[in-house]
Amino acid sequence: MPEPVLAALVAVFADPSARRVVVIEHSGFARLHLGMAATTRPGRILLAGAGDAFVADPEFVLHEYCHVLRQWAPGRLTRRGYLLESLRRGYTANRFESEARAFAAATVERFCAVLAQQSRA
Ligand SMILES: [Zn+2]
Repeated sequence: MPEPVLAALVAVFADPSARRVVVIEHSGFARLHLGMAATTRPGRILLAGAGDAFVADPEFVLHEYCHVLRQWAPGRLTRRGYLLESLRRGYTANRFESEARAFAAATVERFCAVLAQQSRA
């Protein structure tokens, strides 16, 4: 991940461990997941496509980092928990997904502002 993006992530999540999240592009594993653009695991984001397309989409970045830093890291998200939620409510209404979407929507403006500052510095 480009340095300005990492710095902006650390700022909006108030969490330096954002720098340690591993992002893997062109992951066959992510592609296997029903054509989803990305999937997450503890400490990592697996992208079906290219890293630049990911970086170019701030809401997508915030959404995936939210899963890793706010859900996997504190142990709230587990594979089993996610599966159960998905079975119960489907993909979109799943509470992990709605939380990540709400977080991304609420944070994107601030993230972009910090990012713009970082890129100027
Ligand atoms: Zn998600």
